[in-house]
Amino acid sequence: MTYYLLFQLLPPRYMVKLSKVKTFQAYLDSCERKYSCVHCRAHLASHDELLSKSFQGSQGRAYLFNSVVNVGCGPAEERLLLTGLHAVADIYCESCHTTLGWKYEQAFELSQKYKEGKFIIEVSHMIKDNGWE
Ligand SMILES: [Zn+2]
Repeated sequence: MTYYLLFQLLPPRYMVKLSKVKTFQAYLDSCERKYSCVHCRAHLASHDELLSKSFQGSQGRAYLFNSVVNVGCGPAEERLLLTGLHAVADIYCESCHTTLGWKYEQAFELSQKYKEGKFIIEVSHMIKDNGWE
């Protein structure tokens, strides 16, 4: 409830600024459907940014997002995945430091280029906020 009030007090322009400053936790629009960190409830991604549900993480299903918030990024390293060689970086929740998934920094196969700059979050680390289905 505190989050909701804070959002209402801030002009939209200021919210955008907040999300780009790493030391502040970003808040997504209270009206939109979103995914939050299951461990600490930090907002992670808007449902509108969801690109695909058909990914596989190390611990089960994972979703591909166009953009995420409140997420930090480790160093990139090359990994040979089922779909070929990729440069990927682990991503973690900036609030509770749980590793959530990874970011595709670079894909070397032409057919996989669409994933560059996108984020994978494992379903087991997310909850749908506001109880939407
Ligand atoms: Zn968290």
